[in-house]
Amino acid sequence: MGSRYGNNGNKIKLKFDFRSDTVTRPTPRMLSAMLEAETGDDVFNEDPTVNKLQGKIALLANKEGSLFCPSATMTNQLAVRTHLTQPPYTVLCDYRCHLVNYEAGAHVTTLQPENGLNYLTAETIKKNLILDDDIHHSPTKLICLENTLNGEILSIEEIKKISELARFHGIKLHLDGARIWNACVATGLSLSDYCQYFDSISVCLSKGLGAPVGSVLIGSAQFLKKAKHFRKMYGGGWRQAGILAAGGLYALEHHLSGLKTDMENAKYVSEKIKSFGFTITKKTETNMVWFEIPKSYNFSVEDLKVQLEKFQCVIFGGKYDYECRLVFHHEITKEGCDLILEGLQNCVKTFATIEKDNLFEENDKKKYLNL
Ligand SMILES: *Cc1c(COP(=O)(O)O)cnc(C)c1O
Repeated sequence: MGSRYGNNGNKIKLKFDFRSDTVTRPTPRMLSAMLEAETGDDVFNEDPTVNKLQGKIALLANKEGSLFCPSATMTNQLAVRTHLTQPPYTVLCDYRCHLVNYEAGAHVTTLQPENGLNYLTAETIKKNLILDDDIHHSPTKLICLENTLNGEILSIEEIKKISELARFHGIKLHLDGARIWNACVATGLSLSDYCQYFDSISVCLSKGLGAPVGSVLIGSAQFLKKAKHFRKMYGGGWRQAGILAAGGLYALEHHLSGLKTDMENAKYVSEKIKSFGFTITKKTETNMVWFEIPKSYNFSVEDLKVQLEKFQCVIFGGKYDYECRLVFHHEITKEGCDLILEGLQNCVKTFATIEKDNLFEENDKKKYLNL
């Protein structure tokens, strides 16, 4: 199936896969760059391609260095482990963040955004810091932010305030920036604009950027020396990793600006979905569209999943009955956008006709619309 970078050479004809941007496969040009990569033993710091990637990311972030790792779970966990050596301590973050929900193992305090906001403010964080030395408490030593979170951008102004608060109290600040590239492209801010406020940053090469494997941990030389030690301990000391680093380098050089197309596609689909009567539940600011199926529509995400298969589109089904997430990436072409819209429209029509025969449902619908 296509990609905006041409046919990716995969023999399996996959459908348009809206489940995540992790599904993106290497393009033929990326694969040739990987085949041609110069390699060496990275445990000895001798892989020239890994060194090139790490140098490039450090330069983009305007930090002392960076460390290439197999996954963002590893870069996040290395950051937590490296920042926190001496217990007791508390890590503070948004209750929806990846670090807590999908990376078993970290001991953390999770906060809900207040006042109907969709992001944590410095004010909310300030109220929840543990600063005393009461022996029953674990002082806050690390704050982790995620940007983007559910496809929404955390404003640089708020980050600045949180950073000032953290620095004032000697608390470290980590950014889970798996999708920071999408935020950069949407806001026009650079990686270093964001990174200046953080002690460490984790970025993904294998999501929207489309490299097959890899995340990079960014920070000071001293921090990275320790992180590298832990990476080895966890079994992440890899040898001729330059083949993978070459995929990451290629992605950075050729796929970054394409994230803008993903954002435009997401916004296009989001507007249309709204006009079909679905509720957009999170701001469509980057490459994700979150929407809810009105109860009156009489179908669930699971039904939608089955219907959309007929339109060559794959979505996640089942986790939440009525809320659905679509993720845009380079394998979702314009054709894919139009197909999913056609599928959605068709679903509404199909179930609406069933509904008309059912008076009880009609009354229910009226009640719902009056709310
Ligand atoms: C995907 C993701 C991760 C984990 O990345 P893996 O490489 O799959 O381990 C961490 N944080 C965020 C925000 C992510 O989206």
